Amino acid sequence: MEKVNFISVQEAIKKKSGKVSLRGWVYRERGSNKIKFIVLRDSSNIIQCVLEREKFETQWDEIDKLKIESSVEIHGKIKEDKRAPTGYEVLVDKIKIFQIAEEYPIGKDLNEKLLGDRRHLWLRSRKMTAILKIRSTLLFALHKFFRKNNFIEVEAPSFTASTSEGGSTTFEVSYFGKKAYLTQSWQFYAENIIHAVERAYAIAPSFRAEKSRTSRHLTEFWHCEVEAAWINLDDLIKLTKDCLHYVIEEVIKENTPELVSLGVNIPLLKKSKDRFGRIKYSEAIEKLNEMGHKIKYGEDFGAEEEKKLVGYFNCDLLFVTNYPLEILKFYHGEDLKNPGTGTNFNLLAKGLGEIVDGSQREENLDKIIKRLKKAKINLGISDWYLDSRRYGSVPHSGFGLGVERVIQWICGLENIKESIPFPRTPDMIYP
Ligand code: ATP
Ligand code: MG
Repeated sequence: MEKVNFISVQEAIKKKSGKVSLRGWVYRERGSNKIKFIVLRDSSNIIQCVLEREKFETQWDEIDKLKIESSVEIHGKIKEDKRAPTGYEVLVDKIKIFQIAEEYPIGKDLNEKLLGDRRHLWLRSRKMTAILKIRSTLLFALHKFFRKNNFIEVEAPSFTASTSEGGSTTFEVSYFGKKAYLTQSWQFYAENIIHAVERAYAIAPSFRAEKSRTSRHLTEFWHCEVEAAWINLDDLIKLTKDCLHYVIEEVIKENTPELVSLGVNIPLLKKSKDRFGRIKYSEAIEKLNEMGHKIKYGEDFGAEEEKKLVGYFNCDLLFVTNYPLEILKFYHGEDLKNPGTGTNFNLLAKGLGEIVDGSQREENLDKIIKRLKKAKINLGISDWYLDSRRYGSVPHSGFGLGVERVIQWICGLENIKESIPFPRTPDMIYP
């Protein structure tokens, strides 16, 4: 038997004319007792297919029963047709039906809860498929970027005996009768790992029991974390810029059709990757007050303030450095030129807020111990972390980037849930 060469819908559209063999799922269907129109969907695109009854007399009963999401293979001739959804149409000569789908439980007007419960089916939508492709490009681009820049990928466990961030956002699990926690960050491991490999990164899930239901928090998110010896805050900021520039460029290169389908303004996105600003926390507080927000020095920005701040400084991505030490974690370094403030940054994205958090770390053991005492933190069994300061401490810096936040920003998604296939939130634990 001759081997059939199946091509994708997108390849067929590119081919423009001649014979094609396609397979996929019924995206839409309509027809009469003489003719049936199927819009066929595969991972690449959709295309209208026309079946005339006279060619399929013996199969017509079956064809007539085809419903949305039925799986088929078709063979026919493609031609341009301006009225068809993607500008081309296939006149079908042969069809093989794999399965006639049951009534598809996703229609036009399903609410968010239902789409959440049927997430495994909702992923088949053109929108979610586009996002999944962009996500894949972005993750690969991150890996490529760090490897090109001499970083070694080193993993850390998800089960931990204590937590780095601590507090109310910790997930506790039972670990053979003892308490364990799901990791919130790779950083404590990384600050030790760099004494071996100098430059390390990992992309892995972090878990945060975020109780507030916001449009930019998940309870399980993919955290791209980086730590490097011998680099300071300025080097780290440069690395962050280069990283974002590179991944956005890759996404534009690989996923222009997907970005277009999501309504992303590509020329603006192209410009965004170079529209960085840099200010100090104190300047941010001043500007916010000038613009009518009521916020005092020493307070953390609220979600609205973070979103708006970037625009006030006429850029798309804004590094805010030198937060007051009182609102920073003990491991962020102190800027000796601006005492009382940190060698840290938050990178805020216009319209969204924080997407990356980084700092040059405090490398001095005595200073860290003082900071811990002041904050009344007992590291307990996590004291091993401080071995990074006891045995050959070096200047070092690192950042944590929220993969879903970056996707949400690039794609202009209303809710972070859309940026991950199976989101986890306080309300969503299945599918
Ligand atoms: P936020 O203030 O926005 O809650 P955070 O300061 O608590 O974030 P970090 O510990 O700084 O978070 O985490 C590093 C990065 O990970 C953040 O800049 C953000 O991009 C991402 N991130 C943090 N928490 C979440 C979450 N719950 N869901 C998705 N991404 C998150
Ligand atoms: Mg942060």
